[in-house]
Amino acid sequence: MFWWQDEVGQGVRVAFTDRGAGNLALHTGDDATAVRNRRAALERSMGVPGGSLVFLEQVHGTDVADADRQDRPAVPTADAAVSTRGVPLAVMVADCVPVVLVGAGPQGPVTGVAHAGRRGLLDGVLERTVEQLLARGARRLTAWIGPSICGSCYEVPAALHEQSVARIPAVAATTSWGTPALDLRAGARDRLSSLGVGVVEPAAPEPSCTRENEQLSSHRRDPGSGRIVGLVWGTGARREVAA
Ligand SMILES: [Zn+2]
Repeated sequence: MFWWQDEVGQGVRVAFTDRGAGNLALHTGDDATAVRNRRAALERSMGVPGGSLVFLEQVHGTDVADADRQDRPAVPTADAAVSTRGVPLAVMVADCVPVVLVGAGPQGPVTGVAHAGRRGLLDGVLERTVEQLLARGARRLTAWIGPSICGSCYEVPAALHEQSVARIPAVAATTSWGTPALDLRAGARDRLSSLGVGVVEPAAPEPSCTRENEQLSSHRRDPGSGRIVGLVWGTGARREVAA
């Protein structure tokens, strides 16, 4: 079910699913009941209350949802989310880069997730997310970069390569077959480092390239393979709910 997961301090856990958890997206044409059942199974594995995991309506933008707001939509339209309460957050990907962030805030952990695809990354979704975390008093921010397509696999047209590299030079790459490509992970690493965020790239036993590892969802390899997710949640949130 999990490609990688760990307790990262402050009672916070970070995880990335693999296809063992099944497709977790409602927008890819999969049976909605089956997806909801998989999401419920995932929440049980995480040890969080049913229905507490916040998913986003992701639109390749840079909006950051405040998961703590009582009046927020159940499924906010945003490509990132933040919480100061350990609210379980999910970000869906299938080649795009899932980024999970954790910092130390005045009242406990400050957490976030972001969907860094080509457009979001170039348009500043990571900058916007870090800005929102800092606005909540987060210090010592660390980002976990999850499984995504690698620079040797993510082929793009030459013009798009040129435009993208002009914005973030670190994304420049070449496919293993010698054509223009983008390394979104390197771009994410570059943006986060420039913002003073520590970057961790978990080394799971399985390769982290979604296109090369069939245990992960890849839109490029198989558009029907659904979505895996990056997750962050406070293990203390469960006790609060129980109390
Ligand atoms: Zn690859």
